[in-house]
Amino acid sequence: MSKGFPDVMARLIEGFCKMPGVGVRSAERMAFYVLRAKEADVESLARSITEVKRNVSFCRECNNLSESDLCLMCSEKKRDRSRICVVEGPNGVMAVERTGSYNGLYHVLLGALSPIDGIGPGDIRMGDLVRRAEDPEVKEIIIATDFTTEGQTTALFISKVLGRSRIKVTRLSRGVPEGACVEYADVGTLQRAFEDRRTV
Ligand SMILES: [Zn+2]
Repeated sequence: MSKGFPDVMARLIEGFCKMPGVGVRSAERMAFYVLRAKEADVESLARSITEVKRNVSFCRECNNLSESDLCLMCSEKKRDRSRICVVEGPNGVMAVERTGSYNGLYHVLLGALSPIDGIGPGDIRMGDLVRRAEDPEVKEIIIATDFTTEGQTTALFISKVLGRSRIKVTRLSRGVPEGACVEYADVGTLQRAFEDRRTV
C-alpha cells in the first residue's frame, strides 16, 4: 500500500486509512491536503486530534461525550429528570438536541444489539440503563434507537426489560423512515416522531 511515497507520507496515508469510511484514494487525497495546507492549519488540526484524545471521555452517568466527569446535559440543573431518552451514540444526543423539543436526560448505549455479530446486552450500556431506571424520579424512558434491524432489536429488548416496571416506556413514532438512523433524520421529522411517540 502507498508504494512510491516517502515513508512519512505512507505512514500518514496508512493512518488515514484506519478511519471509518476512508479508502486508500481518500487517504491519499487527505495526505496531499496536509502537504499543501498552511503550516498553522495542519498544526491546529494535529493539536485538536491530540486534545480530543486526551480530554474527551464518556460521562459517568449517561455515557455521552464529555470533557468532565458529568456531561453538559447531566449537569444542567433545569433539565427534566423524570425522562430519559435512549440513543445509540453521542450523535443521537446531538440530533435530539437540535429538535429543541426535548429537555430531559439521555442514556447513550454506545452501540446496539446485533445477535448476528455477537453483540449482546453485556456489550452495550444496558445494565447502566436498568440501574438508572430504578431511580424513583424517573417516570418515562423514551427509546430513540435507530430504525435499523439492530436499533429495532435493541428497542424491543429495552421494552421487554423495562416494560414490566412502573415506568412508562415509549418509542419514537415511525415518522423516522424504516432503516434510518436517528442522527440523519431531519429536525422536523424527528420533532414529529417525538410528539407522536407511543407506549411500547
Ligand atoms: Zn451525561
